[in-house]
Amino acid sequence: MTQPLLTVKSLKKHFPGKSGFWGNQGVVRAVDGVDLTVYPGETVSIVGESGCGKSTTGRCILRLLEPTEGEILFQGKDILKLNEEQMRTMRRNMQIVFQDPFASLNPRKTIGQILADPLIVHGIGTAAERKKQVEEMIEIVGLTKQHLDRYPHEFSGGQRQRIGIARALILKPKLVIADEPVSALDVSIQAQILNLMQDLQKEFQLTYLFISHDLSVVRHISDRVAVMYLGKVVEVADKKSLYENPVHPYTRALLSAVPVPDPEHKAERILLEGDLPSPANPPTGCTFHPRCPVCVEMCKREIPALRKKAAGHFVSCHLE
Ligand code: SF4
Repeated sequence: MTQPLLTVKSLKKHFPGKSGFWGNQGVVRAVDGVDLTVYPGETVSIVGESGCGKSTTGRCILRLLEPTEGEILFQGKDILKLNEEQMRTMRRNMQIVFQDPFASLNPRKTIGQILADPLIVHGIGTAAERKKQVEEMIEIVGLTKQHLDRYPHEFSGGQRQRIGIARALILKPKLVIADEPVSALDVSIQAQILNLMQDLQKEFQLTYLFISHDLSVVRHISDRVAVMYLGKVVEVADKKSLYENPVHPYTRALLSAVPVPDPEHKAERILLEGDLPSPANPPTGCTFHPRCPVCVEMCKREIPALRKKAAGHFVSCHLE
C-alpha cells in the first residue's frame, strides 16, 4: 500500500487570548485537533469559512507557525522534531503558494532575483546553472525570459500568481501548500491558474494541499476534501462522495449555497443561523450545535468523534 506523503495527527495551534481588565482571556483555539493524511500525487483540499483554522493548519504544517501540540509526519519523519537547520533542508520539499502574490513578492527585486533566491539559499547550482533553471521555470508557468528583468508591480494579478507558483516550484518540491491561491483573482483568471496548477502537478508529480473557502474551486481541483469548522475537521471524503452525498449538516449547508448550472436542479438552500463562533470561546460539545438545524440535546454536551461512514468517508456528527 502507498505510504502517505504527509500525515497530520491531533494538530493543535492555540494562541494566547487578548489580555483585558480581568487579565488574560484564555486561549484562541485556532486549530484544535486536526487529523489529515495526504498521499503522493493527490490534491487534498481543506475547505471552510474564513476563521475556521484552515490557513493556520497549512502554516503549521510548514512550521511557519509552531504548532502547540500534535505530530506532522512528512515522508514518515516527524518534522516537529527537526531543528532549524534540518527544517530548512526539509522545506526544499515543502513549499507554499500564497493568496496575495503581490504581498509575498519583494517589490525591490526583479523576478529573476526572486526566482533565483531559493536556489541560492539552498546552495543549488552555479550562477550559470541557476540562470538556466530560472529561465526554464518562468517559461513553464507561461511567462517569458523578458519578464525576468521586471519588478512585481509591473505584472497583473494572474501573472504575479504565475510568478508565485514558479518560486514555489523552482526547488522541485514534493508537496505544495496552496493557500487560497486564486481567491484574489478574477473568475476568468482563476480557471487559467487552476489549469496551470493541474498541468504542473502532472509534469512534476506534485502533491497539493489546497486551502480554500470556495467550494466551486475546490471541486475543480481536488481528489479529496476535508471540511473544517472551528479548528476541527468535521467531514473528509473523496470529492465525488462529498459533493454528491454530503453527510455533516455543516457540509450540507455549505454545499446548498453553491450555484449549480442546471435549471432543473431545485435544491433547497440551507441557511445557517448566526456567525462562526469565536475560537476563543468555542461552544460546548459539538461546536457546530448553536447553528445546526438538527441539533439534539446530546450535541450540547458531547464532542462527536470523526467516525467512518463509508470507505474513505469520515464524519463527526452524533446523528450519523
Ligand atoms: Fe448537528 Fe449534533 Fe451533528 Fe453537531 S453532532 S452536527 S450539533 S447533529
